Amino acid sequence: MELNERAELDTSQANDLGRGSGGSGGGFGIPIPGGGGRGGIIGIVVAVLVALLGGGFGLNAMTNGDEGGGQAGGADLEQLCSTANPDRLDDARCRNLLYVNSIQDYWKKAYPELGRSDYEVTTTNFFQAAVNTGCGQADSGVGPFYCPADRKVYIDLSFYDELASRFGAKGEFAQPYVLAHEYGHHVQNLLGTNAKAGQGDQSGPRSASVRLELQADCYAGAWARNATESKDKTGQQPLFKSITEADISQAIDAAEAIGDDSIQERSGGRVNPDQFTHGTSEQRKRWFNQGYDRGDPKTCDTFGTDQL
Ligand SMILES: [Zn+2]
Repeated sequence: MELNERAELDTSQANDLGRGSGGSGGGFGIPIPGGGGRGGIIGIVVAVLVALLGGGFGLNAMTNGDEGGGQAGGADLEQLCSTANPDRLDDARCRNLLYVNSIQDYWKKAYPELGRSDYEVTTTNFFQAAVNTGCGQADSGVGPFYCPADRKVYIDLSFYDELASRFGAKGEFAQPYVLAHEYGHHVQNLLGTNAKAGQGDQSGPRSASVRLELQADCYAGAWARNATESKDKTGQQPLFKSITEADISQAIDAAEAIGDDSIQERSGGRVNPDQFTHGTSEQRKRWFNQGYDRGDPKTCDTFGTDQL
């Protein structure tokens, strides 16, 4: 993969919240129930908060207390990621901003074919340790997530180190895959897919939760297929100069590493399909590939098939 160092990034699409912006939790704290709730807003929040990592990893999700350590503001991305800074693409925040720009430029074109209206651009918030969201307070242990209530993506970028060291997904292209998966949940939120799925089963091999997650993987694949077409803020420059098959393999490796069965095995337990929330490694890989091979989110109908 080669990023275009001349691309103008749209810094309005991400914020760096810095450290410990979680505050005191207050009335927002939504505890994650052990078995996963059924239906309603909490069901959706749970389904989305276990985004990517699912059971077995950092399910101490919502904390009610203060993380302590005070707060420190994040960087001004407008300065940090401007073309005036020659080292900007060495910074993970600017690279992730570029990925977010690419994913949303893709959806601006692809969404109208799926939805009834225009795609609604949303921001990604980079945080460290803890964060207050429209879905309650979260700490980094939950992994990246999308909050349907405030329509924002949240990620502690140290998650990628975790993904590399604990899950063996080392490649840089795991990063845009993770973001594209979360933006897949945003698309589902705009379409009303996740509200519908919130009324279905929240765990199990054929659950609404698994269908939602596999669809988000498929959407990520559809973006990956079209990513080199995506343009910068000016509409003139490509964001990526190239994406190779090796990059795509890194995304597939990441999808595979975080399958429910793999996570359950890694955490020392036996594989229990009743607790699946995201799909198996084989399924996650296959649905990413489905999106990538076809390059069309309309082929991501995980709700209308028996062949999950
Ligand atoms: Zn997810």
